[in-house]
Amino acid sequence: MLRASEADEDDQSAGARSDVADPGSRATGRRLHFDPVTDPGGDRPELPILPYERREAHVRDWDPRTAEVAATIAAMVRRRRPDLVVEHIGSTAVPGLPGKGIVDLSVEVEPGGIPGVVEALYALGFGPQPGPDPWPPTRPMVVGAVELGGDEFRIHLHVQPRGGDMPRDLAFRDALRNDPELMRQYTELKTEITGGHGVDSFRYTHSKTTWILGVYKALGFRVPAIQPPATIGILGGGQLGRMIGLAARELGYRIAVLDPDPDSPAAAVADRVEVGRYDDIEAARRMAAGCAVITYELEHVSLELVKALDDGRVPIRPGPYALKLTQDRLAERRFLEANGATVAPWRAVSTADELRAGIAELGIPLRLKASLGGYDGRSQLRIGGSGDVAAAEVLLAAESAACRPMLLERELAFSAELSAIVARGVDGVARGYPVGRNVHDRGILVESSAPAGIPPETAEAAVALATSLATGMGMVGLLTAELFLMPDGSLVVNELAPRVHNSGHWTIEAAATSQFEQHVRAICGLPLGATELRAGGAATVNVLGSGPDREARVTGVEAALEAPDVHVHLYDKRHVFERRKMGHVTAIGPTREAALETARTAAATIGWDGH
Ligand code: ADP
Ligand code: MG
Repeated sequence: MLRASEADEDDQSAGARSDVADPGSRATGRRLHFDPVTDPGGDRPELPILPYERREAHVRDWDPRTAEVAATIAAMVRRRRPDLVVEHIGSTAVPGLPGKGIVDLSVEVEPGGIPGVVEALYALGFGPQPGPDPWPPTRPMVVGAVELGGDEFRIHLHVQPRGGDMPRDLAFRDALRNDPELMRQYTELKTEITGGHGVDSFRYTHSKTTWILGVYKALGFRVPAIQPPATIGILGGGQLGRMIGLAARELGYRIAVLDPDPDSPAAAVADRVEVGRYDDIEAARRMAAGCAVITYELEHVSLELVKALDDGRVPIRPGPYALKLTQDRLAERRFLEANGATVAPWRAVSTADELRAGIAELGIPLRLKASLGGYDGRSQLRIGGSGDVAAAEVLLAAESAACRPMLLERELAFSAELSAIVARGVDGVARGYPVGRNVHDRGILVESSAPAGIPPETAEAAVALATSLATGMGMVGLLTAELFLMPDGSLVVNELAPRVHNSGHWTIEAAATSQFEQHVRAICGLPLGATELRAGGAATVNVLGSGPDREARVTGVEAALEAPDVHVHLYDKRHVFERRKMGHVTAIGPTREAALETARTAAATIGWDGH
């Protein structure tokens, strides 16, 4: 998986990292090695290391002065630490190769020596890597800049543990230096991604994943798949975790789950349950011990917890960046706009004055949504008229007391709600499902059906949009984009979920590969499965709870299963209450409408004893 960070990272040095050191991957191909840039002469003048700034990615011609910068920095490092061999890697190390112009350098160090080397580099003037997705402390990167000939050159200095990815980075560099065809392809790819203008550096790096990993593979370095019976750790034990667990078990994986409730829906399919809240880092570490990969089934797990687990030992897929972007509605809006998606006109509001100004500017009707923590229509409020403003002010006051600005956005008169679900693998290859059509009732999803019954070009645009967003966030796993189809046929993104989704439950019986299996394949580095519908139409109707909070005893399952095309899924939640998601019913049929009719009839028979 490539890791970029919002800090500009360059090319392979940014580098496709295999997340965990893989002792099995070694270069087997031809390797023409060039001398490291280490300069024992030591007579180069030292350059002051200046602060580093994050910027957009612009591709420009190779600059021979980057070799001079590399040699100078290498000499400066060697003067302090003669034991280190400094290699120039990345695109600036390949004469003639266009790129972002960042000078990437790399040293390989015994794992225990990494903190000492980082300290020495800080003393030289380098700083820690900025951005939300830095390399972990087990494989850090420090950053800085120098001025040469009136121009500024930014530097990434990678500190790699011995046994890690440095041999691969060198092999990739040397392959580019030796093979004009490879260099031509790489140049073409970079030009295509940037199209002559600046591109978000994260998107830039992740747009290159598939090609780069293909070259690595040809050079004898592959990211090995996580093989069954390895253990998959799931943060969250709800129904989504349960269904991920069921799919993973079919493939032969073992499951560990973190959830505050020892009887959570996923506990029944877990080999191991760690009881702890979604911000309990110690419990999460206990769960992570012995896992080969970790994923999350809800975006309300603490970002701090996910960052703490993302220490370079066990991969977290998707990673903290995808979580950060999707758990905060304001960060999500900014990401969507930066990645070319359309969203409803919006404002971030913290005070009653800002709220009133926002209402005046955007115009009623509006939605006021908590930036963090809302789901199933909770923590949001409709402002349909001036009578709702007082309630909005109360909600805003509560959120701003917790220092959380809210999202105020225009309510859109959409013609349909859609879901575009795509999976993106470790190798950057993405596959989308047929687009589904959703119906919500007071913020809760009640029905999803597929195919959406929209023009093919709209469906294609929806999948392309979700795929592009998955690339832009460096997704590994499933991404669900909740979309509004507007009367003019355009698509507006309402919300993203970096995970399997309620609107994709029909894929269990009706798609060639279920969303749950697909997610497992993606995070384990396995090839993705086919996604097409196996029937003319499919529909899921949610089974919601009713009545007061009490022990859950289901009724009506037999009647629901009278129809042979119906499948009932119950999540074994121990308690039922009004509108709680307790299960779902999926039906397949010749058309979406027929499937929906069958599913509705079946779901209507299911109830909860005592009400
Ligand atoms: P949640 O995280 O609770 O799913 P959403 O933002 O997706 O929150 O809102 C839930 C539902 O409310 C949406 O699926 C949609 O039906 C409705 N909704 C939310 N925002 C808007 C909007 N700006 N315009 C119209 N309907 C909206
Ligand atoms: Mg939603």
